Amino acid sequence: MTKNTLHGRVALVTGGSRGIGAAIARALAAAGAAVAINYRERVSDADGLVKAIVDAGGRAMAIPADVSDASAVAGMAAAVNAQLGPIDILINNAGVAITRGIDDLTEADFDQTIAVNLKSVFLCTQAVLPTMRAAKWGRIVNISSGAARGAGSIGPHYNASKAGIEGLTRGYAARLVKEGVTVNAVAPSLIETDMMHGQESLVSRIPLGRFGAADEVAGAVMLLIDNAYMTGQTVAMSGGMAFN
Ligand code: NAP
Repeated sequence: MTKNTLHGRVALVTGGSRGIGAAIARALAAAGAAVAINYRERVSDADGLVKAIVDAGGRAMAIPADVSDASAVAGMAAAVNAQLGPIDILINNAGVAITRGIDDLTEADFDQTIAVNLKSVFLCTQAVLPTMRAAKWGRIVNISSGAARGAGSIGPHYNASKAGIEGLTRGYAARLVKEGVTVNAVAPSLIETDMMHGQESLVSRIPLGRFGAADEVAGAVMLLIDNAYMTGQTVAMSGGMAFN
């Protein structure tokens, strides 16, 4: 995407303080969007990213909120609308990966995973839809995982949360297509971020012979934002491990 393609647009990236979310925030800012960087607790990471974007001539803000909490999400959307303008682009990226075997998986692990990974997508989507529908333009990209369809390495609770995201993606896409709002998903597998620390042995599963880079996921997200005709789809990226 060229430098000013998204000039005048406002984007919200959940879990944008590091990893894949931070790479997406940088790509959006490089394309000219004003970017709200949501985080849960790592304020210094989020502030550092905002400073880098502003120093490069862009517009950005950091916004703390637990995306599994409805009132926190409503407050986040209101703060972004007030400070940067109406939200046009939502990247539902925040997530947790609590690795568990099936005998160790607890109800608390299951509930937390579904709340942070899946319910958050519903809450954030509902919070931004009024401004997108009023503008008759919107882009929503949900970060799923190869675990939505494949075995994955985290556990069945994580598989379920990501499969649910792909259901939400298609459900919203079908209902919003006539209003100029596209809803798609990107399903990465094994991307080199904090989430993959300690999982280095998994690289042997990847035909390409290396983990993916967060910037490569951001590249797929930007393709979806640039495309008005593509909606309800999941773009898989896995170094040749799986094909949708
Ligand atoms: P990461 O490095 O662990 O970063 C997670 C991000 O989510 C952080 O910004 C974190 O904020 C935020 N976050 C976590 N819980 C939150 C909450 N309740 N409310 C708001 N923000 C919250 O993870 P990543 O690897 O970049 O993963 C990003 C997304 O890609 C996740 O949805 C993950 O499931 C998905 N994914 C990752 C991989 C992979 O191989 N890495 C593969 C497939 C899918 P703080 O910094 O404040 O903690």
